[in-house]
Amino acid sequence: MTDPTRRKDGDRNAHEPERTDPSPAFEFDCEFCDEAFLSETVEAVRDRGATHLETHRDSLLTEFADRERGRECDNDCGYVFPVGVDEVAGFECRSCGHDNFESFAHRYLYWQIERS
Ligand SMILES: [Zn+2]
Ligand SMILES: [Zn+2]
Repeated sequence: MTDPTRRKDGDRNAHEPERTDPSPAFEFDCEFCDEAFLSETVEAVRDRGATHLETHRDSLLTEFADRERGRECDNDCGYVFPVGVDEVAGFECRSCGHDNFESFAHRYLYWQIERS
C-alpha cells in the first residue's frame, strides 16, 4: 500500500481535512461478548476488530467452517477447506500450514461492520 506520489510531507499538512462531524461512522458490535468498536473509518474498526477477534478464535472457527466451506486457502496453495463443521479443525491450511485466521477475520468484519 505505498503511494509514491504522496511522499512529500509538506503536502500532507497543506490539506488537513476539516471535520465538522467527528462522530464515529462505523461500528462493529462483537457478537461473542459485549464489546463494541467505533471509528470514523472502516479500516480502523476492522484492524481493532481483527485484533479483538483473536480472543474469540474458537468461536469464530464455527463461523469459518460454516461460511468458508469449499473455499481455497488464501495462500493460493490449492488446498480447499473441507465441507462440514466437524472436518474443519482450525484456520491452518492442512496443505501449506498458512494461517487463514486473519484474512477470514477481515472478511468477517466487513460482513459485521455497520454504518452508524
Ligand atoms: Zn468480543
Ligand atoms: Zn494453503
